Amino acid sequence: VLCLSAPLVHAEAQFGDIGGKVLRKGNIDAAEKLVRSAALTDAQIEKLTAESIAYMDSQNRVAPDGDPYAERLKRLVKGHETEDGLQLNFKVYLVRDVNAFAAPDGSIRVMAGLMQLMTDDELRSIIGHEIGHVKLKHIKKQYQKAYAVSASRDAAQANTGQASVLAEGELGKFTEEVLNAKFSRTDESNADEYGFKFMLKHGYEYHAMEVAFLKLAGDGTTKTLWDTHPDPDERAKHAEQWAATEDSKRQAAAPAPAAVPASATAADEADEAEKDTEPKAEPSPEPAQDAPAGDSTED
Ligand SMILES: [Zn+2]
Repeated sequence: VLCLSAPLVHAEAQFGDIGGKVLRKGNIDAAEKLVRSAALTDAQIEKLTAESIAYMDSQNRVAPDGDPYAERLKRLVKGHETEDGLQLNFKVYLVRDVNAFAAPDGSIRVMAGLMQLMTDDELRSIIGHEIGHVKLKHIKKQYQKAYAVSASRDAAQANTGQASVLAEGELGKFTEEVLNAKFSRTDESNADEYGFKFMLKHGYEYHAMEVAFLKLAGDGTTKTLWDTHPDPDERAKHAEQWAATEDSKRQAAAPAPAAVPASATAADEADEAEKDTEPKAEPSPEPAQDAPAGDSTED
């Protein structure tokens, strides 16, 4: 589930009492569960997803409507509630973690710490990456794996059995497992590529992805979050290459510059600049604004 980093669970503020409150009662059903884990049905995965997301939403401070982080996220994912055949829902957790994750049902959660670090388009590139994990069914696979792990633990620990997919009290453990699960390098780079195409598809600033990865790679405080993950420098390099390819495509497709007299262009730009005097506000959830890239979208 996690892609930016595995150790979301490390954040004790969020999951401080995971494990500590796990209830163990009822009969042992571990062997049966172990068998079941091999073939978790779609319906079971759906149920597990709903339960684990509800659990995480209850364990973390979700930014309410009107909160600057919530409003900013709403604004920057506007129109993406349905995307590529998926139903998505977005929430901010008011935690310092520099992270984001998705669940198989299209729930996407963004940590306030990540929002502080990134511009809108950088965040969109990360969100596009998360959507990729959903669309390409990487997360569904993680749920399967995490379930198998929690089931085999049960076999050793003699845990509880209930009618639901997970026994009562096991949800925290399962959720921790799923959050700690790592994507393969291949899944990560496929999700990166999906995210990049997401940026192109919607006309966002596609150079933002390489910047986002560089930010995650370059900062001493966030580096540890990436320790268990495919090298963000390498991912930044890929994003840079994709962007360069797109740049040359667009340059090749651009009309000959002679078509527009230089003086007319300058005058148009001056007009545009005069019109563009919208007031700026909301400093807190926004990162320092990057200087706009010279070669932004052309359509
Ligand atoms: Zn990922």
